[in-house]
Amino acid sequence: MNTCTQRSGLIERTLQLVALTGLAASSPLLNILREGPEFFVNRRAIPVDIVSLVAIVVVVPPLILLALEGCARVLGAAFSRFVHSVFVALLISIIIVPLLESSGLSGWKILALSVAIGSSVSACVARFVPARKWLAFLAILSGVSVGNFFLSDGIGTLLFPRHERLESGYTKSSATPVVVLIFDEFPLNGLLNRDLQIDAERFPNFAALVKDATWFQNAAAVNQFTPIALPAILSGRMPRSLKQLPTAESYPANLFTILGRSHAIAAYEPFTRLCPDDLCRRKTKQTSWRGRLTFMLSDLAAVYLNYIVPEDLDLGVPTIDGKWGDFWEDTTVDWDAPNFSRGDRVESFKRFMRGLKAPGEKPPFIFAHIILPHMPHQFVPSGRMYAPGVMQGYVRDQWVDDQARREVSYQQFLLQLGATDRLVGEFIARLKELGIYEQAVLVAVADHGISFQPGTHRRGDVSNEAFYDDVMSIPLFIKRPGVGMGGISSKRAQTMDVVPTVLALLGLDYDIQFDGKSLFTEADQDRTEQLLLVGRIPKKNAEEESERKKHELEGQVISFSPSVDRKRATIDWKYTIEGYASPNPYNPYYLGPHSDLLGRPVSDFAVGVSSSTFVFHARNGKPDPNRVHGVLRYDPRSGVCPCNLQGVVIGSDLKAGDEVAVAINGVLQSFARLIPSTAYAGNFVFFVLDKAFKAGENKVEIFKVLPAADNAIRLERLSPENS
Ligand SMILES: [Zn+2]
Repeated sequence: MNTCTQRSGLIERTLQLVALTGLAASSPLLNILREGPEFFVNRRAIPVDIVSLVAIVVVVPPLILLALEGCARVLGAAFSRFVHSVFVALLISIIIVPLLESSGLSGWKILALSVAIGSSVSACVARFVPARKWLAFLAILSGVSVGNFFLSDGIGTLLFPRHERLESGYTKSSATPVVVLIFDEFPLNGLLNRDLQIDAERFPNFAALVKDATWFQNAAAVNQFTPIALPAILSGRMPRSLKQLPTAESYPANLFTILGRSHAIAAYEPFTRLCPDDLCRRKTKQTSWRGRLTFMLSDLAAVYLNYIVPEDLDLGVPTIDGKWGDFWEDTTVDWDAPNFSRGDRVESFKRFMRGLKAPGEKPPFIFAHIILPHMPHQFVPSGRMYAPGVMQGYVRDQWVDDQARREVSYQQFLLQLGATDRLVGEFIARLKELGIYEQAVLVAVADHGISFQPGTHRRGDVSNEAFYDDVMSIPLFIKRPGVGMGGISSKRAQTMDVVPTVLALLGLDYDIQFDGKSLFTEADQDRTEQLLLVGRIPKKNAEEESERKKHELEGQVISFSPSVDRKRATIDWKYTIEGYASPNPYNPYYLGPHSDLLGRPVSDFAVGVSSSTFVFHARNGKPDPNRVHGVLRYDPRSGVCPCNLQGVVIGSDLKAGDEVAVAINGVLQSFARLIPSTAYAGNFVFFVLDKAFKAGENKVEIFKVLPAADNAIRLERLSPENS
């Protein structure tokens, strides 16, 4: 073989690898990023990061494979060609796997079929010249996907930000402090009791807010997803399109830029970038380019694994459902980036709270976007974090039609709502301590809610009757300067009314066009209908034709009738969950049977012995080596607690649906019914409060619960499996 043929052979193989790594990895990734440029916004990426990331994703994979082929050459040209064929076969298999995902085949069958097809195509490529040339020609597709990425609107705005500053503003200034708290994924119906009032027993701080603030009980969001829903709150405008990025460039007139000159801004804005860099100086300790890229690449790897690994295979792929980032959860990146879904959501807000200062020369504008009670649900009301464990009832971004599992998820939501309520109390106490509260205009609002309806995406299905009540109806409280002037308003407010209302309360004249209107202007007519820009539902859920139809409204503005007429399906549903209607002061957030027995010592009951055993499971669904022999360690200083107890029961005297109980140090903390399991007698999921534990070792017992005379119970103790 002469050098010329060798060289053209090398070029051909290179192009083939570029084509295949493009189709297998870089093109799908660039498409995902092009469709969701928020990935870069909430990771605070600057243009050089975006360009570097694309270069790495497109160039590095084929280079590595080419280098390996080069190494293989040491063992002869034939071996190197064989290695190339193996790479071709593997890459084609990877391309095929996602295409077979909707075939209904099991994960292992999909993998086997993909490898079979990949190997056959690779054999053809090795054998036939036209096939080789054709494959090399496909390298052009990589170029096309890179081009599409950079030419898209979203990425363009991020690479070439237009710094339009707000010149037209108001003429007077105001000395009134402004406080805006935005919660995330918070449906109003989570707070409400049967009488549609705030449940003061479970949520005392929200209930207390009504003394000083007006509660707009018919308030609605304008979209179901943060990147569109949150900027509407801060800009006073109805979102124009689903492509608008949550940045100061996209929303030049927002509360930050409007109050930027008159007020001293203290902002906790972990997800969006509406406060321009010159007004909100980000943390001075900047991370290195390498640190930022490592963080982005590790998240991107998780996204990619979710894309290529069939859903039903348990290969340790990190879950990305319900999260914004930090998908591996143990990445220790020294960076100003928010800790998205990581446990420090409560702690990092508390840190912000502690860092607030008493007002100086300028009045403060305090802003916080608290990513609570947003999934993953992993906090008990004290604010301590627990390992969320295997998520119950939400599969492939949909609630399954399984009452027992959804109830477990609702239990977790309720506990997290308890934590949210407690933070509100602490925050208001802090404002009072700093002398800000009394004169402040204070807004507490959520960007959108969450649905627990079976068969729907948690934000998605506008055709579901309960959608408007679950996802659009949100808490909105606005406190005017002064105290004791709270109350309830039935106005059909929308989140875009927040800014016009705040500015009117500050007495500022402005010549900015808002879509929302001031809610305290008596003369104004109430809305006859509320508006929603229908958000984009993740594609995973829209595979089937019937699902796709529901999403035809995506990107359109639709109107809906006021919430008073709507079905309160979720409130009715939560009252059907055992324990909801009769909260026990020992743990008012508890859901499950025998809520009246929580906190009672085991010694009050007749106790026998069960022949079954139990094993605690870790979050991967495998036995937890740190939790054997029924002993749990707890360190009160750590901020975390072993408050989620998941595991399996092994034995023949228990089956799915049977009742079990858990006692910590001899006190009953929770009851549950066993959830069906394929390999064991059943799964148990208990949530207990951190007050159940003492520092150091805690004795955990699990019991089978049996009825006894006079509505009492008797217990049979299970032994811990010695594994
Ligand atoms: Zn949100």
